[in-house]
Amino acid sequence: DDDDDDDDKKGDEDKPPKNDGKSLRIFQWNILAQALCQGADNFVLCPEEALEWKYRQLRILEELHRNDASIYCLQEVDCFSVLKEHFQKLKFDGVFHPKPQSPCLDQEINTGPDGCAIFYDEEKFKLHDTRKINLKANENVITNQVAILCKFEGIKEKEDLGTFFVAVTHLKAKAGYEKLRQAQGRYLLQILTQEVGDAPLILTGDFNASYKEPVYKEIMKSDLLLSSTYTFLSPDRVEPPFTTWQVRGSYMGNKETCVAIDYIFFSKDHFRVKSVLDIPSESEIGQKRLPSLLYPSDHLSLVCDLEILK
Ligand code: NDP
Ligand code: CA
Repeated sequence: DDDDDDDDKKGDEDKPPKNDGKSLRIFQWNILAQALCQGADNFVLCPEEALEWKYRQLRILEELHRNDASIYCLQEVDCFSVLKEHFQKLKFDGVFHPKPQSPCLDQEINTGPDGCAIFYDEEKFKLHDTRKINLKANENVITNQVAILCKFEGIKEKEDLGTFFVAVTHLKAKAGYEKLRQAQGRYLLQILTQEVGDAPLILTGDFNASYKEPVYKEIMKSDLLLSSTYTFLSPDRVEPPFTTWQVRGSYMGNKETCVAIDYIFFSKDHFRVKSVLDIPSESEIGQKRLPSLLYPSDHLSLVCDLEILK
């Protein structure tokens, strides 16, 4: 995972991708909020210095930059102004939507609420519309989770991407909240169906749900006709074994979690998967799991090239 050569990308082996320039590189990552990683998260095996902001900041920027995406979808962003300043130099603009009552604010040291963010290449896309969404569990119950929906238009003549939508979300965490995630997902799908109609859509996020959960199944069955990019990495078309792998300490002892809960979904009538960045191996991740000196978040970044079909 140390270089981003094309050799590192696996594509649809049957149909080798032809590079006609009409593709989008999408990057999805829960960057791990700084306030949480030194507070509530309790990553017991992670070296203390790997959690210091002066160090993590550089590793996060490096991870964003080296993947050279045109749209970045992020969660647990409690450093939006830092990222924005960096992205401005690359002629990217960004949108941020904080959680209404971010758990970062409960931490003694914090830099404000965490939330979802989208950064996009202003030289390639015009942002027509942004909808900042507070997810509800039903019409009457608001929740603490958010999403962003952006409507873009490709402005590079030779790439003529037309209009497409990108949505990002971060659903409720932890075991026992499967029903809440399902309700949040259902609410989001409802809004997406209304706003996007049958236009091209990319939906990314930390869904805090494995493919076995109802929310994943509802997304895959929705009228938006979505497919999951990372299933294209395996011949059996299943999700990868993990997108997060961490060990947390508690009064019950250490608890190891290794599961795929982050996704890039796309409307399958509109896009074709050209390439997908591989997930690092267990030995690349190492015995102390994530985060580490090598990986600044407990979640891995997902990167894919999607070709827009005409
Ligand atoms: P979530 O339960 O969705 O999770 C908050 C963060 O905790 C996530 O970023 C999540 O990371 C991380 N996390 C997941 N599992 C664990 C774990 N086992 N131990 C520690 N952290 C974990 O957040 P909510 O928005 O529902 O807020 C939860 C907390 O926020 C509450 O416990 C409370 O402290 C505070 N809060 C306060 C409110 C108030 O009224 N003052 C209202 C709402 C929240 P990931 O997604 O990567 O798994
Ligand atoms: Ca987290």
